[in-house]
Amino acid sequence: MSLVGRFAPTPSGRMHLGNVFAALISWASVRSRGGEWVLRMEDLDTQRTSAAYAQTLREDLQWLGLDWDRETPAQSTRSAVYQRYFHRLEALGLLYPCYCTRSQLHSVNAPHLSDGTYIYPGTCRDLSPEQRAAQTRPPAWRIRTPDQTISLEDLAQGQFQENLLRQCGDFVVRRADGVYVYQLAVTVDDGESGVTEVVRGVDLLSSAPRQMYLQTLLGFPHPAYGHIPLLVAPDGRRLSKRDADLDLGALRQRVSSEEVIGVLAAAAGLIPKYTPLSAQELASQFAWGRIHGCQLPITELQRLL
Ligand code: GLU
Repeated sequence: MSLVGRFAPTPSGRMHLGNVFAALISWASVRSRGGEWVLRMEDLDTQRTSAAYAQTLREDLQWLGLDWDRETPAQSTRSAVYQRYFHRLEALGLLYPCYCTRSQLHSVNAPHLSDGTYIYPGTCRDLSPEQRAAQTRPPAWRIRTPDQTISLEDLAQGQFQENLLRQCGDFVVRRADGVYVYQLAVTVDDGESGVTEVVRGVDLLSSAPRQMYLQTLLGFPHPAYGHIPLLVAPDGRRLSKRDADLDLGALRQRVSSEEVIGVLAAAAGLIPKYTPLSAQELASQFAWGRIHGCQLPITELQRLL
């Protein structure tokens, strides 16, 4: 079977060191085994994203030496495609309208997930046709989740499992304003473009069981997953978009792409000690076995500042 990896950035600003790390690992993983690499712009949030950011992102990838074989259409252009898959889920009898307001959802006394969303308590799951007809606001659409544990063997995090009903709850696939959500869009896009390996930050690990559930329902094979650690400063502080001096706009004025790659490769333990190197050189010595954990201190951070 052919190997297809992908990078699916949100073009809402300049690439940050964390995005560079995800792109680099995904690229090196597939290129080290002769696989294909696909680029996709995740611009569902049209308020925050722009074509100009998408273009800068492509230039930043080129500067890093990360080449892609094809770019699949941006998510903002694919609403009609997502709608088709939405109707397939509807035909399976798995979708229902949810009229809960944001404040209702936040006031329920339910434990919440690591990404800040609440475990949906099923408020609108079994409304009668009369109760639905009496609603006045447009609904979001949720998918029923099974009382079933979904497991995966993550390339960086090892065994991970989640019971979708108990640990996530029925989740939204289309918002009340008609926008299809990330979970559905990413499943359809990865599935249709034949992606076999998904590499991204560990903050998205808990999305994998939701996406695997949708893959099963929509007839797509499960890809391999590698959820890589989040970058932190040597003192343990999480690096974020607020560290503007570590976005590629600033980095490109100070250091070379080989220096950026060398710092990240050394932090990840992919090379024994810091040395500037090209993406190509990294691919030739790439091994998943070295990448694990949830946080990765950038030990040579001072070289980039
Ligand atoms: N678009 C997401 C981001 O930029 C990544 C989603 C994914 O890789 O599945 O963080």
